[in-house]
Amino acid sequence: MHRSIATVSLSGTLRQKLEAIAAAGFDGYELFENDFINFKGTAADLRRISADLGLTLDLYQPFRDFEAMPEAQFRRSLERAERKFDLMQELGAELMLCCSNTSPLAIDDPSLAAAQLRALAERASRRGLRVGFEALAWGRHTSLYGRAWNIVQRADHPNLGLILDSFHTLSLKDDPAGIAAIPGDKIFFLQMADAPLLSMDVLQWARHHRSFPAQGEFDCVGFFEQALLAGYTGPLSLEIFNDVFRETPNRRTAVDAMRSLLYLESRARQRLASAAEGPKAARAPQVLQQVALFEPPPMPRFTGFTFIEFAADAESARGLDKLFCQLGFQRIGRHRSKAVVLYRQGAINLIVNAQPDSFASGRFDLHGTSVCALGVGTDDPDQAAERATAMRSLRYDGPVGPQEIRVPAVVAPGGNLIHFVATSLGADGLYEADFVLEASPDGASAGLRSIDHVALGLAVDQLDTWVLFSRAVLGLEPGESLELADPFGLIRSRGVADAGRHIRMVLNVSLSQRTRTARTVNARGGGAVHHIALASDNIFDSVESLRANGVRFVPISDNYYDDLQTRVDLDPALLARMRSLGVLFDRSPAGDYLQAYTEGFEDGFFFEIVERIGGYDGYGALNAPARMAAQAQA
Ligand code: MG
Ligand code: MG
Repeated sequence: MHRSIATVSLSGTLRQKLEAIAAAGFDGYELFENDFINFKGTAADLRRISADLGLTLDLYQPFRDFEAMPEAQFRRSLERAERKFDLMQELGAELMLCCSNTSPLAIDDPSLAAAQLRALAERASRRGLRVGFEALAWGRHTSLYGRAWNIVQRADHPNLGLILDSFHTLSLKDDPAGIAAIPGDKIFFLQMADAPLLSMDVLQWARHHRSFPAQGEFDCVGFFEQALLAGYTGPLSLEIFNDVFRETPNRRTAVDAMRSLLYLESRARQRLASAAEGPKAARAPQVLQQVALFEPPPMPRFTGFTFIEFAADAESARGLDKLFCQLGFQRIGRHRSKAVVLYRQGAINLIVNAQPDSFASGRFDLHGTSVCALGVGTDDPDQAAERATAMRSLRYDGPVGPQEIRVPAVVAPGGNLIHFVATSLGADGLYEADFVLEASPDGASAGLRSIDHVALGLAVDQLDTWVLFSRAVLGLEPGESLELADPFGLIRSRGVADAGRHIRMVLNVSLSQRTRTARTVNARGGGAVHHIALASDNIFDSVESLRANGVRFVPISDNYYDDLQTRVDLDPALLARMRSLGVLFDRSPAGDYLQAYTEGFEDGFFFEIVERIGGYDGYGALNAPARMAAQAQA
């Protein structure tokens, strides 16, 4: 498809925006009028810049408050339109967006609206231009695409068509199912936007909180599918008003934008191709022939986290060695030629990399002792890496020694690596070539079995980026967005996980600069691992033995347990054990969750010990404030 984006979606000057749009691989753009009004240059200059960048100007927008007006205003607006048409011709823009009238003067009369839009289209046609009519969700009389389409039909002019914008339809919970019945060539343009579900004034929602498809909670795929079923073959565009995107570096936003369109196309393609019966299945083959929808390699299937690698220097490596041994890990391997040590407990592998002049040392220089790479198990590492690069992730190829196994890796947002490890390698396959494996002494284990989840601390402008990366690249679906109270500000938290719950991550963003999460992000970089949750089959035994080993846990207030007793019906002996060990508790209809937090390493990341009982699917978010308050009072 021809991929396009509105200039309003990105930060920067108009030239910088267009350069970012071109660099991300877009075919064209929508020019938001204000961007041109404030542009230091002429229409001819902009036309030349666009041509040099290989971008087409697909849409000039918006033309406001036009239809269904009293005669005097209508006449003036026609003159206004002529000046815009002059400009469009100089710019080389062929299509103008006319959005539904929001003026209090607008008359509730679809036939008047149709007659006036017909006159506008007639003026446009004399210059070889076209007009698309878009229903704004807050339009005075026209807020639904169905009514806009009715008006376009009444106007009955070849140079007048409909413009669809997923935000306006989905924010009003209008049913997009009627779109498929509109002739595809009467849909002149398609704008896609997602958004979180919020209860607020729709205009404010639209102007500040839109996001790229797959970042919010709308069914953008379903909406897009309807346009495809209608026979639409025109540009697929993004029009995103978002306060954060207005300040995020535009190159990054543009890559996210492209990734979201590629993902949207691939999902729509999948849904159409798998339609089994009914009108959709009948129509799908023709649709898939008409438009080329992006088809990346299939989503990888993950088996779990296989390792976590820490960047350290010689001194902090000694500190980590002590901590990991206290946590019940055994030092089971040393790299043959590098300052790299492997620790293991159950299926958990922790790697400490203190090798100078390595990827890890680069991360250490930037962020201090921190996680620099995650390994995830999959049956097809090359396919996983190919999917990631098809979805515009950067592949990382480190130097490979003569006997080392090449493990495909990609760079996650924020700069850490995700390695795709072949499950066929088994427990030791990855390590036996480059590590001298030591026989593991018995008895030190604390019963920790696997990595339950990895929590990341993100900068405010990274949450949407990570949600999209998780979905499009890794196939992890987001759960609900939660707000948690730290004593010094709010934390927004969203879990992402694969369908089989083999890989779970928690994305945390501090809205305040004063929380511990914000300090982690500032010190260790956005996308830093904030804590690592290790699963035990018996948290009480594990925490008891860890405490005996000298692991320090975050002390939990007695008041927490008094309150817990009033909320949940628990065996008093169990409650007493939780209280004495600092174990927190959460219950959902599906099951229970028990958790305890260790103190941070060098005021940075920390560990969480967890036990999931039954089908509990969350992360103990209710308890996070207890932990954050305890850390603040420590
Ligand atoms: Mg729009
Ligand atoms: Mg956690």
